[in-house]
Amino acid sequence: MAKDIGRRSFQFYTSTLESRSTRMLMQEQLLRRAVEQGELELHYQPQIATADGTLTGLEALVRWRHPQRGLVYPNEFIGLAEDLGMISEVGRWVLREACRQVKVWQDAGFPVVPVAINLSAQEFLQRDVARDVAEALWETGLEARYLHIELTESTLMQSGGQMSDTLHALKALGVSLAIDDFGTGYSSLAYLRRHPIDKLKIDRSFVTDVPRDADATAIVNAIVQMSHSLHLQIVAEGVETQEQLDLLRSLHCTTAQGYLISRPLPADQTQAWMSQHLHKS
Ligand code: C2E
Ligand code: MG
Ligand code: MG
Ligand code: MG
Repeated sequence: MAKDIGRRSFQFYTSTLESRSTRMLMQEQLLRRAVEQGELELHYQPQIATADGTLTGLEALVRWRHPQRGLVYPNEFIGLAEDLGMISEVGRWVLREACRQVKVWQDAGFPVVPVAINLSAQEFLQRDVARDVAEALWETGLEARYLHIELTESTLMQSGGQMSDTLHALKALGVSLAIDDFGTGYSSLAYLRRHPIDKLKIDRSFVTDVPRDADATAIVNAIVQMSHSLHLQIVAEGVETQEQLDLLRSLHCTTAQGYLISRPLPADQTQAWMSQHLHKS
């Protein structure tokens, strides 16, 4: 009896293990196919000057156009790509495609603005990011100053000693560095002195609560003031209402990004948005 139960639970255990590794294998094949067969795509979200609404930049955000599941968002597969050791394949594609697309738009007479890409901690650990960036710029012909790299405070903390070298190598190429989701990480501000950071992106969680919440407003104000004193550029993320945009402008937060301005759009719609935007201003 006891033996039976033991055997049964063991079988259960192995089959769980098997199905888990089978599932991982399937997902790995799916993700590999996604990269190799062009199922990844970039959507672009505009950033504007709060003073006059001019376009100041685009953030490239990756999506997976899954044949069965439709559009899959990064929160559902970036972590998976990291677990499978495939984040570098995804990241290299994103880097190349963003540089290529923005160079095409620049050459076609659209506003000459930088594109920002997001890099996760794993990418800094797994690959020579500076070398990949140098190659992508060389191959696409995009000038380095039109590429911005967004990384989070926790990425700066996790990635250890070579991080500083990598960031300085990127700066030497002429690329700009931005701290994404600023204000949410468990880190000291000391890294702002240690690392060659150019820009802070105020996390959406603070922006969402302004102007109604006095504390959120005070925090946004403090971050903006600090960015000016440190000669850093500043962007507010997740701006959804006119009220928020007005408050940000009055606090001298120079740049804004969020659904109020535009959702992230596929390349063709981004191009249409830029055309319309040009005619308006
Ligand atoms: P993030 O870099 O902080 O990007 C901002 C996220 O907020 C995007 O979600 C964007 O669609 C969303 N967002 C923008 N404006 C608003 C707004 O007004 N309201 C609300 N509610 N949301 C807004 P998305 O595209 O799903 O990306 C989620 C995260 O996935 C990104 O956060 C970034 O950390 C990561 N990610 C995206 N693309 C890549 C990539 O190519 N590589 C890596 N490693 N990570 C990426
Ligand atoms: Mg970002
Ligand atoms: Mg963010
Ligand atoms: Mg984020």
